[in-house]
Amino acid sequence: MHSTLSFSQATTVPTTNYAFHSQSPINLRFCGLRREAFGISILTRSSSGRVRLSTRGRSKRTSASTGNNGTPPKSFDYDLIIIGAGVGGHGAALHAVEKGLKTAIIEGDVVGGTCVNRGCVPSKALLAVSGRMRELQSEHHMKALGLQVSAAGYDRQGVADHANNLASKIRSNLTNSMKALGVDILTGFGTIVGPQKVKYGKVGFTDNVVTAKDIIIATGSVPFVPKGIEVDGKTVITSDHALKLEFVPDWIAIVGSGYIGLEFSDVYTALGSEVTFIEALDQLMPGFDPEISKLAQRVLINPRKIDYHTGVFATKITPARDGKPVIVELTDAKTKEHKDTLEVDAALIATGRAPFTYGLGLENINVVTQRGFVPVDERMRVIDANGNLVPHLYCIGDANGKMMLAHAASAQGISVVEQVTGRDHVLNHLSVPAACFTHPEISMVGLTEPQAREKAEKEGFEISVAKTSFKANTKALAENEGEGLAKVIS
Ligand SMILES: Cc1cc2nc3c(=O)[nH]c(=O)nc-3n(C[C@H](O)[C@H](O)[C@H](O)COP(=O)(O)OP(=O)(O)OC[C@H]3O[C@@H](n4cnc5c(N)ncnc54)[C@H](O)[C@@H]3O)c2cc1C
Repeated sequence: MHSTLSFSQATTVPTTNYAFHSQSPINLRFCGLRREAFGISILTRSSSGRVRLSTRGRSKRTSASTGNNGTPPKSFDYDLIIIGAGVGGHGAALHAVEKGLKTAIIEGDVVGGTCVNRGCVPSKALLAVSGRMRELQSEHHMKALGLQVSAAGYDRQGVADHANNLASKIRSNLTNSMKALGVDILTGFGTIVGPQKVKYGKVGFTDNVVTAKDIIIATGSVPFVPKGIEVDGKTVITSDHALKLEFVPDWIAIVGSGYIGLEFSDVYTALGSEVTFIEALDQLMPGFDPEISKLAQRVLINPRKIDYHTGVFATKITPARDGKPVIVELTDAKTKEHKDTLEVDAALIATGRAPFTYGLGLENINVVTQRGFVPVDERMRVIDANGNLVPHLYCIGDANGKMMLAHAASAQGISVVEQVTGRDHVLNHLSVPAACFTHPEISMVGLTEPQAREKAEKEGFEISVAKTSFKANTKALAENEGEGLAKVIS
């Protein structure tokens, strides 16, 4: 067991161990997007002129009619159908092609899903701007480096365009990579109509039915909005709206201080907003190691124009209308009594994500969701209402709720493809890193210290904790960024 936490200007993400037995780990990149998403191709052209994926001699080809894993009946249209072309679906599709599977991916909206269109990619584009703005605005920081700049400013539309253009570019690279590699992209909303059978189609058009030996559900998630909060998309918004940066409010309440809320606080404060966090738990950033949260509070919260209310729920939020501001009603999390009322210019709801399985047809195969998530075992095999595994059906990514991160979705997809091509594989989620791309950044892998201590006590072993300060790191000091630490729990 190990856990590494660091708090630094340069992300320190330990190498992920995908544990593919004797095979080298697949090289997953930013947010699990493989190099094809960046337009870096590993395609080769065969003598017949057909474009093929360079598989570096690893895989054998199979097809729906001539497969070598079991005996795929000729009646199947595909070896593998994936429902949802987000990062999870894309990762699975590319690996399936590498393994020689005849593969189709069904997408009801736009290729790239949350990460590319409404998540990691545009948010990192905004954070690239906020990081630079923050540096340029810090006279002390600039002086210490011997730099002189005149007043820093930004063009809101230009910043918004940067995020939007990046998302479009990655989306088109993702689409092209799948097309070039021979993945059939089927457009329309997918519904499972029975074992190994899916229908899909655009609204208003006749449905097509396709069959596959194996099916992967990769339908992702949508923003979760608690009861009592009225989202109008303008002054009361979710991350879907915020990433378009249609306006920069003077004062914004951010409900939820997880990594999404924290990243937006970095963006908004760099662009000039004041932020008020509203957090139901007693401390900010409850998901992080407590020592890291404390340091993050000292560096990312206290020196900025950010205040906060902890131990409270935002039980009612009304958008700005008729000349009135956004009204936020706060209720004490313990006593359930009214605690305060805030009047702000905007409110961002960052209270987590809800799995998206609407219209998927789970009832046709006797599967009942648990808190909305598709129940799966450690191999991502779907479990039915009687607790039995549904043959040939898997669910990866945000829809199963095991670890709602893009590269986790992609790694789960690769793991499933390994299994359906005959190699047993279980993904070790404790080896999947996570990062919060604030300035400075926070990255982590494995258990927090309290979780490690609890496990050690239960299982009867000792842990040790080693720490080093960035004040002792010359590279950090050269950057004038000595505030930070790296912590290893072993
Ligand atoms: C603001 C924000 C920032 C984030 N930053 C990061 C980050 O820095 N790093 C990171 O690792 N993660 C980040 N995430 C999380 C990451 O975006 C998700 O974990 C990831 O997108 C999940 O991938 P997925 O493939 O499971 O689902 P999704 O990306 O949600 O894709 C699901 C796809 O399925 C389609 N679909 C749904 N139902 C159907 C159907 N029935 N038929 C056909 N198609 C269907 C949807 O249209 C969608 O395209 C961020 C999320 C947000 C909101």
